[in-house]
Amino acid sequence: MSAARLRVQQVGDGFAPYAWAASVEDVAARHGIRPEAVLKFDQNTPPLPGVPQVPLARSMSRLEQYPDGTYRELREAAAAYVGLSADNVVVGAGADDLILLVAQTFLGPGVRAAVDTPTYALYGIATRLHGGTVVDLGDEAELRWVCNPNNPVGDWVGPDEIVELARREPQTTVVVDEAYVEYGARSCAPWVDELENLVVVRTMSKAFGFAALRVGYALAHPETAALLTERRAPAPIAGPAAAIAAAALRDPRLGDVEATIAERERMRASLVSAGYEVAPTATNFLFVPTEEPLAERLEAEGIVVRSFPRGIRVSIRRPSENDVLLRALGADPGPPPGRDATIIRTTTETAIRLTLSLDGQGRARVETGIGFLDHLLTLWAFHAGFDLELLAGGDLGVDEHHTVEDVHAVLGAALAQALGSREDVARYGSAVVPMDEARATAAVDLVRRPHAEISLAFGSDRVGALAVSLLRHALERFTIEAGCTVHVDSVGADDHHVAEAAYKSLGQALRQAVAPGAAGIRSTKGAA
Ligand code: PMP
Repeated sequence: MSAARLRVQQVGDGFAPYAWAASVEDVAARHGIRPEAVLKFDQNTPPLPGVPQVPLARSMSRLEQYPDGTYRELREAAAAYVGLSADNVVVGAGADDLILLVAQTFLGPGVRAAVDTPTYALYGIATRLHGGTVVDLGDEAELRWVCNPNNPVGDWVGPDEIVELARREPQTTVVVDEAYVEYGARSCAPWVDELENLVVVRTMSKAFGFAALRVGYALAHPETAALLTERRAPAPIAGPAAAIAAAALRDPRLGDVEATIAERERMRASLVSAGYEVAPTATNFLFVPTEEPLAERLEAEGIVVRSFPRGIRVSIRRPSENDVLLRALGADPGPPPGRDATIIRTTTETAIRLTLSLDGQGRARVETGIGFLDHLLTLWAFHAGFDLELLAGGDLGVDEHHTVEDVHAVLGAALAQALGSREDVARYGSAVVPMDEARATAAVDLVRRPHAEISLAFGSDRVGALAVSLLRHALERFTIEAGCTVHVDSVGADDHHVAEAAYKSLGQALRQAVAPGAAGIRSTKGAA
């Protein structure tokens, strides 16, 4: 039976489905660039993932069971985070799910919902899906969608204005989407106990960095919350996702938010100096007004942004990645704001995009197509305390030689770039790391005297898909590109351990060597 013969619920006039920006694969294919070289500034998600604060093995250990349908743990955690009680909290699979739930609960044919323009597209979609009528902000309405701060421009109002609106129109449901509230706006949450018609929608996708988990929550008067809960799906959030979100809300670690706000201000200043009229925002994105087809031009360079009739919206990423965007927009990024580097390098053999932050938390996303290499570089970043995102696509159909070598070369170049002048670093570092029967030592001197002494005592050629015999030469390339002195010596009976110990010890030695501090030992021959 074709869909055309099914009886389908009518949607209000002007319905257009939600559309994402172009995918990495689409952009790469359209412009003949490698997917690894594409940088996405369109999702308004943080540049690094949230770190689960519950053991993944534990949260994954009951996959045959449904989650607790009351989501008590998650609701209590959300309530504690916002200073309300669990009875105020409704959970959903992301803010989107709650927007649809609110529409399903309060809207229907002939019911009017006021929507700002421009704003987040889902309010209009949700309204029309339930047969409601979209009206302008100034019109009479039974429901008002308020995005605060607003997407895509990033402007925001104080809670008093919204609370006053909800008091003035007690018959109207006022839905405040606070998806970006952690980036600087003030919340309406304290008023939900007073105002039955106020619903505040929140998400774990933005400041918490858990967009993949699909967790959101709404805050409302207990009676309104109960009404919404009665109408939601029985178990909208996966159990492991609910457990990770609850742990994060109980112990919020929002350190990246501060860094993003600082970056936002740096980018805005740079864009304003270049002549763009970029307004302040209280979000993790900026709106760049333009009449030109900027999005298309940027896309041809592998930079994906969100395009709107009067401008483009760009999400804040890491400093060196933002510099790529600023330069593409003709803005001067100024001196590097932090010790981080982004390198995008494409040759006939490999394509690599790598961002390295020396002052990170050991978070790594490494995808080279060679599992054991990913594992080694993840260990390296973790032990160095660096944040590393490394995507590589190479001629693995030939063999892994070029990928292994080029990845190490780019890693070394990124380290050199992130170190900058090498002033005020500890300069030396050394570590001894045992891995069961294996034992590795590493010593590093960041002085610009490239020299490598690498000795890895492997008993065979391969571990998994990696020819470990390539690692000695690859670490030499790393050293030369990094422009420093590196000694690594690893011995043991198990090749897997020999390699792991080597990368861990090198990571730990680098962690010491790059540590900031004027107490660093200077070269007697001049500048380090
Ligand atoms: N509200 C706004 C204003 C948004 O911009 C977005 C996502 N871009 C969402 C909600 C969706 O959030 P979630 O991932 O929790 O569904």
